[in-house]
Amino acid sequence: METVFAGVDLGGTKIAAALGHADGRVLHSKTIPTLSGEGPERVLARIVELVNGLAAEGGPRPAALGIGVPGLVDSRTGFIRFLPNLEGQWRGVAAGAFLEHALGMPVRILNDARCAAFSELLRGHGRLYPSFVLFTLGTGIGGGIVIDGKLRLGPLSAAGEIGHQTMMANGPLCGCGNDGCLEAIASGPAIARAAGCVNAAEAAGAARNGDVRAQRAFREAAMYLGIAAANLVTALHPDAILFSGGMAELADLLLMPVRAAINERVRMFPADGVAVRRAAAGPQAGLLGALALHAESNRLGF
Ligand SMILES: [Zn+2]
Repeated sequence: METVFAGVDLGGTKIAAALGHADGRVLHSKTIPTLSGEGPERVLARIVELVNGLAAEGGPRPAALGIGVPGLVDSRTGFIRFLPNLEGQWRGVAAGAFLEHALGMPVRILNDARCAAFSELLRGHGRLYPSFVLFTLGTGIGGGIVIDGKLRLGPLSAAGEIGHQTMMANGPLCGCGNDGCLEAIASGPAIARAAGCVNAAEAAGAARNGDVRAQRAFREAAMYLGIAAANLVTALHPDAILFSGGMAELADLLLMPVRAAINERVRMFPADGVAVRRAAAGPQAGLLGALALHAESNRLGF
């Protein structure tokens, strides 16, 4: 019988869970609200209930659980250092040990953007591009860097935080504590704020309808996103720069200017061979990456 795994994508507003195979075939799935304000203990207990509930729906019991989380986690120990965008005290939480004990199965945890990059490596454009940089564009800007078919994690599993590159010396304060990060300038909320809109989708509609302020907000964000991407091309010369998340749909407002910025700003070598594309792994990339964490852990080195 084929081995079944559990995958969980812990988000700011909802927890998505699935049982399925490491190759991405999902058998059962369920989504519940995160209610992170109740604190890590309650949220982790809810994840246990969720996984046990899915397992009770039939089929073999999962062999292991993989989780994607929105922040800093040491994947070798399962210790959550900090989840900045979640309400509650998400600092120094021994989530891996708690869940392994409660569920009686191995648990692996990875940052959610790195989960999405891992998914892209296994089943998306990674099959075509051995080296790529993935930006996840949404409420925050996350990322993952894949070099020669290997996701770069670094000693704290924190490598790839490309949304926290300093773009302006005295720019707006970022959630990480630094000033002028790319995330503070080009994330969905940052664009919406600059456009005077409720969210990035409304800002995109306004920009396309000729609203000058919204157009300027997108132009600014795209310029900095383009500079960040061009710097990564200069540093790594990847085969592709990929974008996922809700805002990656805004090709005309963000992706095309990024392409132009790379062509304009990478002068040391011809960069027109570097593809700039939307990620292929789809909106469930993070969840599917989590589902594959245990079976493919040798590719991650933990
Ligand atoms: Zn930052």
